[in-house]
Amino acid sequence: MDQPVVDSPVSERGRSEAPIRARILQAIFERRLHPGEKLTEERVAELFGVSRTVVRQALARLAQDGIVEHQPNRGAFVAAPSRADARHVLDARAVVEPEIAASAACGCAAAAVARLRRHVAMENEARAAGERATLVRLTGEFHIALAEAAGNPVFVRLLTELQALSSLAILLYARGEHAACPPHEHTDILEAIEAGDGELAARRMRAHIAHVADELDLSEPRERPLGLAQALGLEPGGAAGKVAAGKLSGKASGRAGQRSRPSPAAGKGA
Ligand SMILES: [Zn+2]
Repeated sequence: MDQPVVDSPVSERGRSEAPIRARILQAIFERRLHPGEKLTEERVAELFGVSRTVVRQALARLAQDGIVEHQPNRGAFVAAPSRADARHVLDARAVVEPEIAASAACGCAAAAVARLRRHVAMENEARAAGERATLVRLTGEFHIALAEAAGNPVFVRLLTELQALSSLAILLYARGEHAACPPHEHTDILEAIEAGDGELAARRMRAHIAHVADELDLSEPRERPLGLAQALGLEPGGAAGKVAAGKLSGKASGRAGQRSRPSPAAGKGA
């Protein structure tokens, strides 16, 4: 993946939903489009010179992947993954990506390895030049490029989704300002791939994903309010309060993540 996901919007205008989707993903990878940001159909249609139907198709595809959320009567928003969502994404990456690295090490064509080398060289250039937006996009795309090198289109689709959700989670939960893939680790993984050592590539990838996870604060607050009255300190926990709270937490447990997500959009106008 030598080129950005999209780099010629004008020539692609009006044809299909793919360029819209790609450009939204690229903006998320570069962390220019933030969780909870509204994606107004009309405005997107105007910017891309397409019909609203085409925009709706693009947003529907992104919604399928959990990257866009539709809110009734309010429209489409960039997803704001909860801490639980973010943990699930990283758990999935920790399972899938070592396999991808191993399979790239075992079956990767020389041309694909050369492409990965060029990709890592671009990352290093961006890092040296202090081009942060480019660096975060490239480091994210490295993981997708690896899936491409492994030659499995299902992995590519999966990684595109997981990478976009990771970018959103980093924006929400990074402990420091510099959360991105740690320097050198992509090079180390690539060296194992070039050496054809699938086991080493997998091990290095596993450690790499753990480091990415370490950069995020994904612990849930220890005590959660049981209800509005208690949260406001108006009801210290009477019997009626407990029953109501029990019902609420029971109901919410399956979707706890979604209820606790810190969507900047959710606070507006509601
Ligand atoms: Zn990485």
